[in-house]
Amino acid sequence: MSANSVALAYLIASVFFILALKGLSSPVTARRGNLFGMVGMAIAVVTTLTITKNWALIVGCIALGGAIGAVVARRVQMTAMPELVAFMHSLVGLAAVFIAIAAVNNPASFGLPAPLPMGSKLELFLGTFIGAMTWSGSVIAFLKLSGRMSGAPITFGGQHMVNLALAIVMVGFGLWFFFSETTNWTAFATMSAIAFILGFLIIIPIGGADMPVVISMLNSYSGWAAAGIGFSLGNPMLIIAGSLVGSSGAILSYIMCKAMNRPFLSVILGGFGGETGTAAASDGTQKTYRSGSAEDASFMMGNADSVIIVPGYGLAVARAQHSVKELAEKLHEKGVNVRFAIHPVAGRMPGHMNVLLAEAEIPYEQVLEMDEINSDFSNTDVVLVLGANDVVNPAANVPGSPIYGMPILDAHKARTVMVVKRSMAAGYAGLDNDLFYMDKTMMVFGDAKKVVEDMVKAL
Ligand code: NDP
Repeated sequence: MSANSVALAYLIASVFFILALKGLSSPVTARRGNLFGMVGMAIAVVTTLTITKNWALIVGCIALGGAIGAVVARRVQMTAMPELVAFMHSLVGLAAVFIAIAAVNNPASFGLPAPLPMGSKLELFLGTFIGAMTWSGSVIAFLKLSGRMSGAPITFGGQHMVNLALAIVMVGFGLWFFFSETTNWTAFATMSAIAFILGFLIIIPIGGADMPVVISMLNSYSGWAAAGIGFSLGNPMLIIAGSLVGSSGAILSYIMCKAMNRPFLSVILGGFGGETGTAAASDGTQKTYRSGSAEDASFMMGNADSVIIVPGYGLAVARAQHSVKELAEKLHEKGVNVRFAIHPVAGRMPGHMNVLLAEAEIPYEQVLEMDEINSDFSNTDVVLVLGANDVVNPAANVPGSPIYGMPILDAHKARTVMVVKRSMAAGYAGLDNDLFYMDKTMMVFGDAKKVVEDMVKAL
């Protein structure tokens, strides 16, 4: 393909990527958005193959990686999606580091002059350190999300100062690499090693409930790492795609920060979540709660004028979305006004609940975001909390709590609260929830799907 045709094909692919992002901004157009993304990626891959010398090796690697990816994607449970995404971000980061090592080792194979010009060194430096941090940070996120590592913050005295000192030393080695006349492997390797360590250190102090921000932040970092490497490779497609991922991830991080009421700057610098401690954890005193059956709960809902359903991670685990749709329909038939309240970080990935409810074809007009519905809880007869915990935990209003300041759905303000979960266990943030012990609360124990099916039967 001529250089002009390649540039044109990349431009077309970029337009598809932008249309994909636009489509993904609403559940109504999300499928189309995904399709645009796939078409754009197909054009980008095929075009790149036409300008690749060693295309047999590349096709072989794509086939191998694609086969593994297809098997993993088919097998993964919806609830394990966030850890899969974290794992994939780690691979993007690692790929950026490997490409940088290859370019430093053999600039000619990347069409770069040797010794490397300063501009290329700067690009490689940026790509490497962002990539290395993305890799190690994503590995920690993966371990935390998959439950292989405790979600609790790991903190130690002077943590921020240690991070700052390491960052300065890393930049120092980067400058040494930058100003060395020949390839300075010592500087490059030390800088990369420090970046790997920094990635670990930045993510470990971040506590359970703040993980959504970390995920979107790492998403953004992986994009910037790819863009940095795009400059080294002189590949405009990688620069554009990386920048789109980087900037959309940054915008998502900003939205998540606002939703969690966390300061954006300290989040992107990894300096949050560590100081609050665990003050609001269970205080060990004996508290009493009330429990009832699915039949009791459906009787109360059937006689209510208004019901708000708050879905959470447990709904996803139980795969109860189709049963809950039936429940809502049955209640509608009885003249009850049923709506769903979505917290921005409910579940384990941004938009998790919207995806589940859309899959069950629950009408979008019944699904309301936190800002739209929060003021209505106080006028609502019954709130049904379905496998949710942290997102309705009033501890968020208690100074000193690890989730202090996080906006919650005001379920505790409804006239009657019903909570469906399997036990009195804590949610992702590991905190006790006073909502469960309120006089107006009834716990309905059991798997969310089974309980909702029983409710439907009773109605
Ligand atoms: P939580 O994890 O706080 O609570 C979910 C509850 O569901 C648990 O207490 C559990 O209780 C219950 N549950 C689990 N399985 C079932 C089942 N089969 N049937 C019924 N109940 C079940 O979830 P929330 O959605 O309230 O909050 C999300 C949390 O995850 C927040 O802390 C958020 O910060 C964090 N997070 C969110 C991400 C995102 O992007 N959305 C990403 C990463 C983390 P029991 O065991 O007793 O059944």
